[in-house]
Parts: sequence; structure tokens; C-alpha cells
Amino acid sequence: MVSGSMIGSLEAWARQLKEETASRRTACAALNEHFHGFYSKELLAKTSFVVVDRIPPPPLMDTLPQVSRLDFSKFSGLTLGDTYYVVRSEAQNLPLHFHELVHVLQWKLLTARGFLTRYLNEVIEHGYHDAPLEIMAYDLGHQFEVGCLPFDVESTVRQKLSDIIKS
Ligand SMILES: [Zn+2]
Repeated sequence: MVSGSMIGSLEAWARQLKEETASRRTACAALNEHFHGFYSKELLAKTSFVVVDRIPPPPLMDTLPQVSRLDFSKFSGLTLGDTYYVVRSEAQNLPLHFHELVHVLQWKLLTARGFLTRYLNEVIEHGYHDAPLEIMAYDLGHQFEVGCLPFDVESTVRQKLSDIIKS
């Protein structure tokens, strides 16, 4: 249901959005002190966020079952590769940044095509709230929110992804 050409269009759209917002990008190195022990300095230095008034709706989503029901205007954040977008009212929300950084790692470990294909197929099959990639991001974000001890999020995500892929 999710075609290769659709994934290509999404990747092109993500690149274009990144270029258009380049001057407003903040390196996640700004979050180092908050995420020390969770995310490496290298990852935070290579990742950026952009504060937006509204999450931009990705193209072609209305053609997919379930996905077409997602209301991107109600989203607080959206991750596209090494850049994520957060709405202005949530720009100081650290658990949200933490959540989006889980998606950054998922994207990095699965590759753009692998992430987008799996993510969309999961939403089609399970719905947004029960999509395994979302559950992983919400669970890890929640652990941070309740004040857990620092843990290496990248190796945790790597392990959880291999469990998902095997199952
Ligand atoms: Zn998410």
C-alpha cells in the first residue's frame, strides 16, 4: 500500500522543508545538559530542531487508509531524518524533544526508506497510538519524564528495533 514512489516523494518533501527552514534551525547541542547520559553529544550536534507555528502536513497522506485520519495540525512534533519540527507552544517541552529524538534514532538506524515504509505501514495496520515505533518513542519519553536514571537511548532503540523486526 505504501509505494516506493510515495516514499521518494516524502523524502523529497523532507529535504525541501529542511532547506526552507535552514536559517531557523537550532542544533540539539543546546539540549546537551538536559540529555546528558541519554543521547550522545555527537548525535545532538548532528541533529537540529525547528520551531514552527504549525506542523506541516506531509504530502499524499490522504491516499492511505488510517494515515489519512491523522490531523497534522494537532501534532506537537514531527521528525524527518536529522531534523525535527516542534510547535512554538511546546518548544520548551523536554519530553517532547526526547520523544522526537527517539524517532531521529529510529530513522537513522532503519534508513529513511526503512523508517518511512515501516512507520506508515504500522499506522495503517495498528493505528497511530498502537504503532510499535510510536509506542517505543512514548515509552522511552515517559521514562525520561518520570525522572529515570540516564541510559543509552541509542543502544536501547537499536535493541528494540531488532526485537520488532524479528517478531
Ligand atoms: Zn512520535
